[in-house]
Amino acid sequence: MSKYNYDLFVIGAGSGGVRAARIAASYGAKVGVAEEYRVGGTCVIRGCVPKKLFVYASHYSEEFEEAAGFGWTVGERSFDWKTLVANKDKEIDRLNGIYIRNLEKAGVEIIQSRATVRDAHTVRLEAEDREVTAERILIAVGATPYMPDVPGIEHAISSNEAFHLEELPKRIVVVGGGYIAVEFAGIFNGLGVETKQLYRGPLFMRGFDDDLREMLAEEMMKKGVGLRMNSDIASIVKKDGELELTLTSGEILKTDAVMYATGRIPLTRGLGLEEAGVKLGKSGQVIVDEYSKTSVDSIYAVGDVTDRANLTPVAIREGHAFADTVYGGKDVKVDHSIIPTAVFSQPEMGTVGLTEAQARERGEIDLYKTAFRGLKNTLSGSQERTFMKLVVDAKTDKVLGVHILGQGAGELIQAVGIAVTMGATKAQFDATIAVHPTAAEELVTLREKWQAPLVKAAS
Ligand code: NDP
Repeated sequence: MSKYNYDLFVIGAGSGGVRAARIAASYGAKVGVAEEYRVGGTCVIRGCVPKKLFVYASHYSEEFEEAAGFGWTVGERSFDWKTLVANKDKEIDRLNGIYIRNLEKAGVEIIQSRATVRDAHTVRLEAEDREVTAERILIAVGATPYMPDVPGIEHAISSNEAFHLEELPKRIVVVGGGYIAVEFAGIFNGLGVETKQLYRGPLFMRGFDDDLREMLAEEMMKKGVGLRMNSDIASIVKKDGELELTLTSGEILKTDAVMYATGRIPLTRGLGLEEAGVKLGKSGQVIVDEYSKTSVDSIYAVGDVTDRANLTPVAIREGHAFADTVYGGKDVKVDHSIIPTAVFSQPEMGTVGLTEAQARERGEIDLYKTAFRGLKNTLSGSQERTFMKLVVDAKTDKVLGVHILGQGAGELIQAVGIAVTMGATKAQFDATIAVHPTAAEELVTLREKWQAPLVKAAS
């Protein structure tokens, strides 16, 4: 008999926590999980899933326009925000139910409560005013939107609120230049909201390949997003039913809503971790080793709270690896070096491996690039371009990075991510027979090394 109430107690029932709990239970561990909000976590409840549904919704405005080139007459169109939100909520409720059932089926006890850490083996369940003990504790509490300290920030929303707005605003200003900002700028713009996006630096999507960043900026502007680089808000004032934004340049913008998408911070405040001896980093993230173990032997952490790669599939992989290692008798580490990722901007971006700049730092490279208007757009009238880029090691011929902008880039990068993860060479890409007519065939038919500038520098 264990001297603890649980073998494993998980705090946070998001992607990472749920996976770890289920897998640990499948190995026979007695597992409890505490969740203060809703089972499913950010991704399912107010992140990836509802966001992607909104992205689908926002594409229709363009698709109705494009249908004409194929002979369709589309009648009068109108969009009802409340219907979209209600239908999205129904789907989220369904997924939430599935997550709960899967945990229960696996024999995991779910406790609806905020939980904090008391010591290396004790968790306090705030809602139930009691403590439980566990041989191990897993911290999987995720992160929360970071709202900078700007005067009037209380008038701004984050992505959390964007999913539940009572009314769709007529005008919105999105602040930030990362995943969430570009995705929501595209959503609002597609739904007919007059959308501006402000980014504080010279070019948004820092960390992505420069060609992709520049082309995304151009394409978003073509679609009507008022994208402004080197731009930030100094203050927000509510006046006569609208918001008056004073920019750092002194310019004044009027709008109905402001959404900040300026990063997310680990949700460790008040969790009792430092008091229990767990080392935290500068932004409050839990410091872990390659097995997701913290500085306290019995406490582990996975997902966004560790601020390694803040992506759902990574959290899931970390949770699974933890359970396999600790309860399944396997030795599983997560490789964070190659992570395919998609940004559901409009157009979409998909990327895997090294950017051109990262690859150049490591040695000599060859580049292959192509930009074109896809077949569909010859009749649709859309001016949207697709862009693909291969970064290849000049010595070994290994494909170090693939970067795609265009329709279906997310789907594409998942498949091509397999080849890059396996270490495929450019010759192996070339030996693959093309699928015609697709955009993806470009990936295996690019023969000319890139020489001249393809896209002009962003201003
Ligand atoms: P990101 O870290 O991607 O981007 C934050 C942006 O906000 C950056 O452009 C940053 O600028 C800017 N910023 C930060 N602080 C300030 C400030 N004080 N004032 C003005 N601008 C500021 O965060 P997101 O919020 O977009 O997304 C959070 C995480 O969620 C991401 O790391 C991503 O991993 C994940 N995510 C993944 C998605 C996907 O897989 N499709 C979708 C949505 C989210 P600068 O570059 O100058 O630092």
